[in-house]
Formats: sequence, C-alpha cells, structure tokens
Amino acid sequence: MPLRFNFCPHCESKITFKIDMEDIDPTQYPAPVYIMCKHCKKTSTFYVDSLLRVSFKELEKKSGGIKTIKTK
Ligand SMILES: [Zn+2]
Repeated sequence: MPLRFNFCPHCESKITFKIDMEDIDPTQYPAPVYIMCKHCKKTSTFYVDSLLRVSFKELEKKSGGIKTIKTK
C-alpha cells in the first residue's frame, strides 16, 4: 500500500495518504480518487496513474471516484 506525499489544493497543507488498487476504478487512467484533507476538512479529487502516482488534482469533487481517503 503505497504512501503518497502531496499538498492539499484547498489549503496547501502538506498531506500524506495511503492508496491501494482497491481505492480506484482501474478501467480508466488517470483514475480519480477523493482526498479529504485533515487540516481544512475539504475534499478534492486526485488523479492517479496505473502505478498509483498522482498525475494531477482538482479542487472539486469530480465524478468517477469510488472512495474517499482521509489524510494522515
Ligand atoms: Zn486542506
């Protein structure tokens, strides 16, 4: 279960989260997953590639995700 470091697009806080293949729909890449920031409690959409690396992110909760992950 890879551990990812990134920044919340809402508050720019450094965030850490664990992501697994079960957290995404693997029929399309980049695959969206919802990330809920522990600092500002807002949810954004992160898009990951087939190695679960973050490609880009969106402020809003976009369609297509299947899971919301809370940050550490
Ligand atoms: Zn935040």
